[in-house]
Amino acid sequence: MNPTGVYAEFHHRSIHDRDAFWAEQAKLVDWHTPPQHICDYSNPPFAKWFLGGTTNLCHNAVDRHLKDRPDQAALIYVSTETGIEKTYSFRELHAEVQRMAAAIKGLGVQKGDRVLIYMPMIAEAAFAMLACARIGAIHCVVFGGFASGALASRIEDASPRLIISADAGSRGGKAIEYKPLLDEAIKLSAHKPEAVLLVDRGLAPMTMVAGRDHLWDALRLQHFGAVVGCEWLEANHTSYTLYTSGTTGKPKGVQRDTGGYAVALAASMKHIYCGNAGETYFSTSDIGWVVGHSYIVYGPLIAGMATLMYEGLPTRGLAGEANGGIWWSLVEKYKVTVMFSAPTAVRVLKKQDPALLAKYDLSSLRALFLAGEPLDEPTAQWIGQSLGKPIIDNYWQTETGWPALSVCNGVEQTATRIGSPGKPVYGYDVKLLDDQTGAELTGANQKGVVVIEGPLPPGCMQTVWRDDARFVNTYWKTVPGKLVYSTFDWGIRDADGYFFILGRTDDVINVAGHRLGTREIEESIAAHPNVAEVAVVGVADPLKGQVAMAFAVIKDASLVPDDKARLKLEGDIMKLVDGDLGAVARPARVRFVTLLPKTRSGKLLRRAIQAVCEGRDPGDLTTMDDPSALQQIKDLLI
Ligand code: AMP
Repeated sequence: MNPTGVYAEFHHRSIHDRDAFWAEQAKLVDWHTPPQHICDYSNPPFAKWFLGGTTNLCHNAVDRHLKDRPDQAALIYVSTETGIEKTYSFRELHAEVQRMAAAIKGLGVQKGDRVLIYMPMIAEAAFAMLACARIGAIHCVVFGGFASGALASRIEDASPRLIISADAGSRGGKAIEYKPLLDEAIKLSAHKPEAVLLVDRGLAPMTMVAGRDHLWDALRLQHFGAVVGCEWLEANHTSYTLYTSGTTGKPKGVQRDTGGYAVALAASMKHIYCGNAGETYFSTSDIGWVVGHSYIVYGPLIAGMATLMYEGLPTRGLAGEANGGIWWSLVEKYKVTVMFSAPTAVRVLKKQDPALLAKYDLSSLRALFLAGEPLDEPTAQWIGQSLGKPIIDNYWQTETGWPALSVCNGVEQTATRIGSPGKPVYGYDVKLLDDQTGAELTGANQKGVVVIEGPLPPGCMQTVWRDDARFVNTYWKTVPGKLVYSTFDWGIRDADGYFFILGRTDDVINVAGHRLGTREIEESIAAHPNVAEVAVVGVADPLKGQVAMAFAVIKDASLVPDDKARLKLEGDIMKLVDGDLGAVARPARVRFVTLLPKTRSGKLLRRAIQAVCEGRDPGDLTTMDDPSALQQIKDLLI
């Protein structure tokens, strides 16, 4: 049956006349050599897009705008941590990126080499990403909030030739030293980078390692007038890897291509975000996350927009003063037309004086997009009413790189529905499957696992870095007898085709929009000499969406009745997680028990623990080995 409606037809064509559809979208970017073949899906689930075409992400983001808009703002950098506010035009950005590219090349980096970027939200981080793309090096950005253990495992997996970092990040005016964490991570990792390039922000002293460490300021001057052309890369050349959490403790390197990603982002700027060249895009995310890659750095620049890169809290002004209206003042000042944030940030702002919103001229703003975690109804309503602008919830993952569910107002104005991130985006053949039988659920309001039929559209992950088997086994083999991509999210679809996301099917939790694997946190806690066993679950939280809660069995049981000793141990464990993974992964509480709820075969009953913590019915417990384990947790929560 053919669909009716402009968007429905657009989506239908993207799936059923796939190559023609994407050939058209491919015209939104510059190609050095046009693609020979739009989609090669001869070896499912590995999709190759725009085969034979050569292009470059940095060319599309920077160089191609030099002709029409050299002096227009490209990167607007605002830090309420350091009080720095600086605008780079496309011409200036081009020069900075070439200096960085020359410095990177000078440190021995060649096409295909990995460059790990462990940086705070500073303009140099964007230069570094674009410089890598320019010369065909693969960047691996690691979120600056991660600590040495998490960083070490990523260094080991990515095996970078070069690491780019800085002396420190800053949060609430307090410097967070990066260099000691980096040095420790390099010590822990079996792989050692040949060189480390450091931006000295003057926030913290750095001990330099002779022969390995280099200062950006010096190299920038050395390469001040550098001219470094773009490498023309085959569309399937890997542009970057970005680590994300899954069911096991080992993070997965989500690997992305070049051509497909460029096309997907360019098309999304037109059809989903409706951003036009010459306007300003403001995403409040961090370059350490996928939103930062797609919609701080590449997407807006590819579209010829200025991108506003922000370092700091949403509640602090440029002079370090308390200011819950800072973001709105930036919208006014830079005439932001498209803004992108996360529900948690809005919940933080909700606690501020609502008059702050009315204080600024927000007439330039067309819509606020929110993603990364479920958008609850009160938050959606509050921000929608306060701003008087459309609030557009969109659903996606590190793996997809751009929205899989959204309304696409650039194709057809579509009403949003509270609590729903919308409908399948063009290119995504989204289905709901029964988790037991694998049968497709076509009726309204039936709960199933959200899956995507292959091929995944352009811009989605190519594979897991250096682990094709993990890509296939993790994502594509969850339904017996069917090769289909699992999102690991539960969902339902209403009678009008709007999807609603109901939470993860696996052990991934979402804290303030940050995706964390409970296993990773468990492994970190289990390293404490007094911890015998531990379970970490995600528990609903009114501000952060979810927080991690840990239940540990300790070796020295004599500590259990002693309040003071327990509190000290809890503090020590939190410090351990801070030092290993970073404060972002720190559990809200660590509670002590003498045994954990398990099945008779020894499987941890995380879902039952989570239900009890949230005051819900833990469900069927017939497989549970010793019911007193769950009772202990209940007793602790009273
Ligand atoms: P990440 O890979 O960190 O972007 O996390 C992806 C996960 O975040 C998804 O699998 C969902 O569980 C959740 N998520 C992202 N966007 C939304 C949304 N709009 N509504 C509900 N959950 C979301």
